[in-house]
Amino acid sequence: MNAPEKSPATAAIASIEHWVGGKVVPGQSGRRADVFNPATGQVTGRVALASTAEVDAAVANAKAAFPAWADTPPIRRARIMFKFLELLNQNKDALAHAITAEHGKVFTDAQGEVSRGIDIVEFACGIPQLLKGDFTDQVSTGMDNWTLRQPLGVVAGVTPFNFPVMVPMWMFPVAIAAGNTFVLKPSPLDPTPSLMMADLLKKAGLPDGVFNVVQGDKDAVDAILDHPDICAVSFVGSTPIAQKIYETGARHGKRVQALGGAKNHMVVMPDADMDQSVDALIGAAYGSAGERCMAISVAVLVGEAGDRIMEKLAERTRALKVKNGTELDAEMGPIVSSVALQRISGYVAQGEAEGAKLVVDGRGFKGAQAGPGCDNGFWIGGTLFDNVTPDMKIYKEEIFGPVLSCVRVKDLKEAVDLINAHEFGNGVSCFTRDGNVAREFSRRIQVGMVGINVPIPVPMAWHGFGGWKKSLFGDMHAYGEEGVRFYTKQKSIMQRWPESISKGAEFVMPTAK
Ligand code: NAD
Repeated sequence: MNAPEKSPATAAIASIEHWVGGKVVPGQSGRRADVFNPATGQVTGRVALASTAEVDAAVANAKAAFPAWADTPPIRRARIMFKFLELLNQNKDALAHAITAEHGKVFTDAQGEVSRGIDIVEFACGIPQLLKGDFTDQVSTGMDNWTLRQPLGVVAGVTPFNFPVMVPMWMFPVAIAAGNTFVLKPSPLDPTPSLMMADLLKKAGLPDGVFNVVQGDKDAVDAILDHPDICAVSFVGSTPIAQKIYETGARHGKRVQALGGAKNHMVVMPDADMDQSVDALIGAAYGSAGERCMAISVAVLVGEAGDRIMEKLAERTRALKVKNGTELDAEMGPIVSSVALQRISGYVAQGEAEGAKLVVDGRGFKGAQAGPGCDNGFWIGGTLFDNVTPDMKIYKEEIFGPVLSCVRVKDLKEAVDLINAHEFGNGVSCFTRDGNVAREFSRRIQVGMVGINVPIPVPMAWHGFGGWKKSLFGDMHAYGEEGVRFYTKQKSIMQRWPESISKGAEFVMPTAK
């Protein structure tokens, strides 16, 4: 593992631009946003914010590149993916450094993010097999029927700040390998990795125009949603925006998958190994400062598990190594922005006011404790609430920060009913030694991704990712075989030759002869 580079305090402020037609294209809209290093609070870049005209230009490039790319044999598209995979592996640490510098997550976690993105590229390398159609010989005498899957055209991805490499890679490797051309609109909070990926794709031999990046905000997204040449939109972000993307995209006739927010529960049964449960809760609640859509934000403590676990949980929360993410022993880094920090602190105050027991208050954590130069960064320590009840705002809403709420329940049924009543259904976990409890829990729970003694059950590349209820709008999950289906349309072909066509017009519904 390489030690991350530390950028000098005097480093120049970078201009972060678009990538269109295989090259960097400077923003022309006159609008830009500051990009911060969240650990220090310093502005490190100014990202371009695309106008409608700039989105149109990117879509025009993608549209022009589509016919030749769609006609490229899948095995040749796969070979470019293999080359991209090789380059990603060579540049893994550079990508991880870029994530830490703009997102703030600790370097080792950023390396993990890149690895999980690489998994999807490996999956996409198998595109010839994934696109293989079905064939039925002799559906009628002298007639065959087969199905094949063809790419849609220009597709777009709109992604959140919390995984600037992995979440775009949930989308574009599968979309591109399937023969589509792609327009990515990353989060303006951490835009640099998108350009690094574009550069690696070009070096891998991807034709210009197949992959494009438009930096931007709401204006760029609205332009994508309105654009008649964009056939499908994949979105990952917060629930209100996911719902808007789904409704607006569908109204414009686009295929949409829109993954939203979450409130993930972890049930601890009284028979669970308490040390393992504490390890799991600490890692899943505070890893990446809780800014993961699969973070555990609610511990559901069943029966005597509550009293047995609480003291250890508090001790471990206080002992978290909250440091600049560039430090290799850091366990938790800063919050992505000052706005997010204020929101999280506001929820902590709200929880106290609502009557939850604030066991560990992270608001006292000062940037100076995180390391040299961190005084002005966006810092909060791990925060732990006990005696949280379902009517409280801190239970109902997604906080998206390092705040763990503990709810006490008497038995498994109460735990399952509680979770099933929540509006989100992204991930869930149950810690137990009882196989029957595990089986019942997995079958009854109304959540898309379930872990049994696994706190963050992010499905592997070939299984597909997606929550239920308000955590996903649309009907197809990201990546895996559902991803391939999302980015392709099925065509059925029936064929016969003159020798097998009988004379005369047929007026009855054709049946097998
Ligand atoms: P966000 O919803 O603020 O932003 C997501 C994207 O939408 C960004 O590209 C942003 O620029 C754009 N956007 C923001 N406001 C918009 C608007 N009004 N109209 C159109 N586009 C707009 O989300 P975020 O803060 O970047 O990310 C955190 C959220 O993402 C959390 O809610 C988290 O749970 C969710 N998330 C979900 C998953 C999942 O798989 N379900 C994965 C990662 C993150």
